[in-house]
Amino acid sequence: MAATVRTVTIHMDGTCSACGRKRPVSESGLCLECITKRITGGPMPRRRDAEDQPPLVPLSEEEMQKAGKKLARMTGELEAMEVDHAEIRKEQKTERDKLRSDINGLAQTIRDQGR
Ligand SMILES: [Zn+2]
Repeated sequence: MAATVRTVTIHMDGTCSACGRKRPVSESGLCLECITKRITGGPMPRRRDAEDQPPLVPLSEEEMQKAGKKLARMTGELEAMEVDHAEIRKEQKTERDKLRSDINGLAQTIRDQGR
């Protein structure tokens, strides 16, 4: 199956519709932090123990854009996967219902024969 190609636009001067801060937002209107929260169910991971960790190197503007695009692409993939999986579950249910119906039909036939 061919992978779906999706293009995502990042608005660099947007305002997040979830947290209300002025920062780059995706087409969904959410900033990257709020998208991450939505995917992981928690805040963006942060390094807690500064002494054990190398100092954080701030991302350049270009790296930030790349990271934003990558996150947006991954978000799109996750959404597409959720749709795919929902369709598969629906097909599986249809198969189960069909088999159940066949079983009921055969059982009814046997009962009708009275033996
Ligand atoms: Zn936000």
